[in-house]
Amino acid sequence: MVFESIDVLDKTVPVQSVNTEWLREANVSLDILRLDELDPEISGNKWYKLKHNILSAQREGNSAILSFGGAWSNHIHALAAAGHRFGMPTIGVIRGEPVEPLSATLVDAVNWGMKLHYLSRSDYRRKNEAYLLDKILSQLGLSARDVHIVPEGGSNPLGVLGCREILAAGQISSGSYDEIWLACGTGATLAGLSLAASDELPGTQIKGVAVLKGADFLRNDIHKYTLHSLDNWTLLTDCHHGGYARTTKELLSFIKSFENETAIPLDPVYTGKVLFAIWHSLAENLKPDSSCRAKRLLMVHTGGLQGRRGIKI
Ligand SMILES: *Cc1c(COP(=O)(O)O)cnc(C)c1O
Repeated sequence: MVFESIDVLDKTVPVQSVNTEWLREANVSLDILRLDELDPEISGNKWYKLKHNILSAQREGNSAILSFGGAWSNHIHALAAAGHRFGMPTIGVIRGEPVEPLSATLVDAVNWGMKLHYLSRSDYRRKNEAYLLDKILSQLGLSARDVHIVPEGGSNPLGVLGCREILAAGQISSGSYDEIWLACGTGATLAGLSLAASDELPGTQIKGVAVLKGADFLRNDIHKYTLHSLDNWTLLTDCHHGGYARTTKELLSFIKSFENETAIPLDPVYTGKVLFAIWHSLAENLKPDSSCRAKRLLMVHTGGLQGRRGIKI
């Protein structure tokens, strides 16, 4: 079997302008970097987090990549797709007991050849402890030297390295935007964007919307990924709509009307919360001043549409 080379995904990602009444009223322009359109199977920020992990596993001659996630994980989905496409066996350690029928995410993963290994929720919480990892590997008949292990969500320094390439993929040039908005789960993507922006886009602020409750701890993680070197980013921690994968009626109806108006699909776990936060912040600061130059925003559409199959909107 002949596999494609990873650089097929080193390609330009479209940037789309959106125009809604609330943006015009606020004198704001908004573009969306459509990472969801990178590829039909491997989409969103998860590709950029995986890229250098896969390259490293290939270079090291590892026999597989192992990673972790829930039954609807965008990361597990992207890993399975990428492993299949680029010839790297994958193992998904899945939170909780096996549930029949499998989620659409896991059906895809299995079809792409990913091997699934389930962990009880209590073990899953301790998955980063060495003894538990050893136990999983020995159950799978693997040794730690054979396997490249990627943390949940693909968030490690190699993941951050890949996320530094996102703005270049959109050919975003210096001086184009005042702010770049994105969703944050672990903050690794924000860290990569902030590192790239501090080199390439002076004057642009990165605005992260934490999609989980009580996310103040993420600032520490982001500081670690960026070696405490940056002040071009802000993390908003009160736009989570109740917590990770929680929604509100307001959020769901906002997503529906945004999609009707722009035909850009969003998911309620990540990208929907970002656009809602943009809309909300503009609605709060509404002091139309037509003498000011329009504020220019870019929102990074980080994908996640496959996971939407698990949520009724
Ligand atoms: C995983 C994910 C994120 C969060 O990325 P982090 O690097 O963990 O902050 C954002 N958006 C989507 C669609 C995701 O799947």
